[in-house]
Amino acid sequence: MMQDFGVTLEDIKSARAVIRGHADATPLIPSPFLSQHAGGEFLLKLENMQPIGAFKIRGAMTAIAQLDPSKVKGVACCSTGNHGRGVAYAARERGIKAIICMSSLVPKVKVDGIKALGAEVRIIGTSQDDAWQEAERLCREEGYIDVSPFDDRFVIAGQGTIGLELLAARPDLATILVPVSGGGLAGGIALAAKSLNPDIKVIGISMDRGAAMHASIHAGEPVDVEEVASLADSLGGGIGLDNAYSFALCRDLLDDVLLVTEEEIYKAMQALYYEDRIIAEGACVVGIAAMMSGKLKTIETPAAAIITGRNLDMDMFTRIVNGEDVTLGTTRINGSPYGQ
Ligand SMILES: *Cc1c(COP(=O)(O)O)cnc(C)c1O
Repeated sequence: MMQDFGVTLEDIKSARAVIRGHADATPLIPSPFLSQHAGGEFLLKLENMQPIGAFKIRGAMTAIAQLDPSKVKGVACCSTGNHGRGVAYAARERGIKAIICMSSLVPKVKVDGIKALGAEVRIIGTSQDDAWQEAERLCREEGYIDVSPFDDRFVIAGQGTIGLELLAARPDLATILVPVSGGGLAGGIALAAKSLNPDIKVIGISMDRGAAMHASIHAGEPVDVEEVASLADSLGGGIGLDNAYSFALCRDLLDDVLLVTEEEIYKAMQALYYEDRIIAEGACVVGIAAMMSGKLKTIETPAAAIITGRNLDMDMFTRIVNGEDVTLGTTRINGSPYGQ
């Protein structure tokens, strides 16, 4: 019996019914290159193929489906970009107003994607926490409904549908690699997968600077970390000091949480592009980076990694493909051509 996390396998199954035909059934494809690295079958779950270019549409649709459009003034959220796009998409579908609060660290391509869906965008401060303050104020003072990017039971249930799809397609799966930021994705997938197969390994991976969930698990309680620019911009931000769901899920259900460097992320983005011809954000490749760098020492196969999104800045991506250096804020990453 799974312990009580305030979100259940039944919630995830209900979410699956909500998103069916809109945000489900993304492809699960083999990667011969990564299979060689893993020493066994290695699969990629292509959430970059979602209509908004990222998995966050699953959680956003599930949460917004709970609201009655005739009774709510609108929804508000903070976001590193992809959650905001998911909320904007789901809110537009249901005729609900959306205000998305983001920091100046969010790449322009993500801001533009949200505006194109008709949502109002507010750029506040230099961290996800600054943006969160404004979303929180809109809810407290102006009556908007908050849709947390990760600490909401409907959002977690929505992200968890990826776990159901993985195990339905491959009941023999032994390991799942999941990028971790606020932990809604990893928590939801681990809850779904371990409810169906308690022996499956679910490993979380983050970038090594500003990894709030990793620091919190080690501290034994949610802690704040400093947010810095990263190739994995979608993984920035804290987990909330009064975290209600995702911290306990990640602490109790993840078998490990590993950290990778910017250089390791850079190399993994190149590998995924040159070997599998996939354009993926830095946030998606942290698991692949952990495997390629040897930080993930052994991996039971068949294994799968979630390719969580594709909403990246194409100028930066072109630099990476060409092996050039990349500068993000005060972060500088020394490039090198693929394979060297
Ligand atoms: C949000 C996001 C993640 C991390 O999800 P959490 O639920 O916050 O841990 C990973 N990859 C991408 C592309 C994302 O947008």
